[in-house]
Amino acid sequence: MLIKSLYFWRTYIGYVLVALIGTFLFAASLVGRFEQQIQEKTDSSLLYNARLLSQVFVSPLQNLNYPQIREVAESIAQNAGLRITVVDNKGVVLADTSENPFTMDNHLRRPEILLASSAGIGRATRYSFTLEEQFHYLAVPIFLQDRIVGFVRTARASSAMNAEISEANSVLLRNAAIVTFFVLLLAFYLSARQAMKVLELTTMADEISRGNFARRIPVGNALGMKKLAQAINQMARSSARSVTEITADRNRLATIFTCMVEGVVDVDMDQNILHINEAAVRMLSVNEKRSTGKPLWQEIRNQEIIDALDEAIKTFSVIKAQTRLDHESGQRVVDIYAASLSDDQGEPIGAVLVLHDITELKNLERVRTDFVANASHELKTPITAIRGLTETIIGDDGVDKETMVYFIERVHAQSLRLSQLVGDLMTISRLESSYSSEDFTKINFADLVRQAVKAAQSTAEHKGHKLVSDLPANEMELYGDRQNLSQLVDNLIDNAMKYTTDPGTIAITLKAENQMAVLEVRDSGIGISPQYQKRVFERFYRVDKARSQSLGGTGLGLSIVKNIVEKHSGTVSVKSQLGSGSTFIVKLPMEKLGVTEQA
Ligand code: ADP
Repeated sequence: MLIKSLYFWRTYIGYVLVALIGTFLFAASLVGRFEQQIQEKTDSSLLYNARLLSQVFVSPLQNLNYPQIREVAESIAQNAGLRITVVDNKGVVLADTSENPFTMDNHLRRPEILLASSAGIGRATRYSFTLEEQFHYLAVPIFLQDRIVGFVRTARASSAMNAEISEANSVLLRNAAIVTFFVLLLAFYLSARQAMKVLELTTMADEISRGNFARRIPVGNALGMKKLAQAINQMARSSARSVTEITADRNRLATIFTCMVEGVVDVDMDQNILHINEAAVRMLSVNEKRSTGKPLWQEIRNQEIIDALDEAIKTFSVIKAQTRLDHESGQRVVDIYAASLSDDQGEPIGAVLVLHDITELKNLERVRTDFVANASHELKTPITAIRGLTETIIGDDGVDKETMVYFIERVHAQSLRLSQLVGDLMTISRLESSYSSEDFTKINFADLVRQAVKAAQSTAEHKGHKLVSDLPANEMELYGDRQNLSQLVDNLIDNAMKYTTDPGTIAITLKAENQMAVLEVRDSGIGISPQYQKRVFERFYRVDKARSQSLGGTGLGLSIVKNIVEKHSGTVSVKSQLGSGSTFIVKLPMEKLGVTEQA
């Protein structure tokens, strides 16, 4: 792990370079310094010895005691590791510790001797052909009462000096190598420790970035990275908070999105579906999983929607349109809203499509217009009849009384029809104008049905029908509108009697079943063929219009029944067989709507 860490190698190599450069510079500065010091030391030793000997040799020189000079020079040279040469003021070599003076040539023109005679000290470095080696020479004059009587020259071989220098250098190098070794060890330890810490921080930061916001970095021994560790921990805390908030917001939006009745589709600039809610999936008959990520125009065949979306994206505006969508439940009318979407910089990023199913609204609209047309038509028939009859009477002066009575009876019959029609229309309008179930009162439904049966008894007898009932003796309570419920029962009994042409039996039964009051009105009349059974509850629908009209029917009786039943949260259905009678079944809940009645 550590070996693979780039950070570790960078830090370590950095330390190593600094250590090596430092040691190198330090050593380099010392090498020059050593050389200089050795040279200075050599020079001062040469000078010291030369000066000393220039004093010592005054008297032997005066006494021409050359053997003494040679002897002293020899012993000093041995002790000090120098070469000593003594020359008289004529340049004749009197003594030399490395050569035989008698074989040596005149030294008066040697540079160091020339310099010593003129400046007091003469220095020179040159190759000695005598000894075949490089030498450093230093010469001083020997004075006798201010008169130069000779010269003492001390010399040291460069090789001796170089050996000393290289000895010093090798010691220096050895020490530098040891120091470098320890520095490198220390650097390894420090960079490894730091790299481990950075690795730890990186791993944790990585985990946090992957969403594990519960992780925290221990701050304690954080190698000067305490602040960084604290900052990362703080970042984890605030990220966790932000993520929680964003998730909650996203969930809220997703729930709204899912629960919306309107179909919503979110697309990018290429119309690829990013999100699609359930309502849109249903409306567009697409598969959410398969369609997401694909272009909308590829998934649906509706040109109006595609055009609206195109237009919204192109013009950067809201486009409204309408279309029809085929659905298994039939064709649906849908309002289209397509709006372009932009990011916080105002750059377009796609569009959102909202589909509003207005089929019910359209149907309601159609039902209303149909109703108005039907009602006008129904009203027009008796009015036209009354008008025709009265105009005939008015236009005929010699009409006899019998004819007059006939006409007036016809007018009367039409006005009754008109009044029945207006009455039914008013009932419908009253039922349609919303009234709340809170206005319902407690009603003994068995009693209400009993009274209706009783009221119909004379008409039934008059028509030769047998009206039988099977009603519960005890109370059967439900909540409802008394007047409406009476009308419901009346309409059903009335129809049963109307559409039982020959004398027959009308049976009314009432029983309680699963908390429902079940009312059945059965007749032995003409019956309804299966294809009309559903439609008889529609307004103005009559199986046989002429028959209904001749019986004083308006075609609204059963639609009123249905309306009342629905207001009471019940159901109505019919069972019938053509020629052998019909049974209308009404089921009404016996509990207070919304509130369960306490026993
Ligand atoms: P109408 O005023 O014509 O009776 P309704 O709405 O009460 O209007 O009934 C609609 C139609 O349903 C009637 O015209 C009739 O054709 C049929 N219908 C209703 N009740 C019965 C019944 N008991 N037996 C046979 N047909 C019926």
